[in-house]
Amino acid sequence: MDCLFCKIINQEIPADIVYEDDEVLAFDDLSPQAPTHILIVPKKHIATLNDIEEDDLETIGRLQYTAAKLAKDHGFAGDGYRVVMNCNEKGGQTVFHLHMHLMGGRQFTWPAG
Ligand code: C5P
Repeated sequence: MDCLFCKIINQEIPADIVYEDDEVLAFDDLSPQAPTHILIVPKKHIATLNDIEEDDLETIGRLQYTAAKLAKDHGFAGDGYRVVMNCNEKGGQTVFHLHMHLMGGRQFTWPAG
């Protein structure tokens, strides 16, 4: 499958990995939009948020759990941070392997652009 994030998961493409377990991988975004910008991805290939099935719910919960854990590890959990999942073209998704952005270390505004 020609999927960039599957290739990172399979170690065919290098990435700065910050966390890994049986279900998820987290690595630094190549084009960071905040002092810390980490992508958290399920190891199972799921293209978009629309493609989640009931069997995936534990994995999706693990993405959220990992985001909070990494925010604590990086020391900005108390100050606050942002998690984002973009879905499809109008949502701004460019890589079609489900991923959660974890961004911290600066002030965010609302609404997001
Ligand atoms: O939500 P979206 O699909 O737009 O996010 C994809 C993210 O993947 C972007 O933040 C982009 O910088 C990142 N990326 C990366 N390494 C690549 C290609 C994209 O970290 N080789």
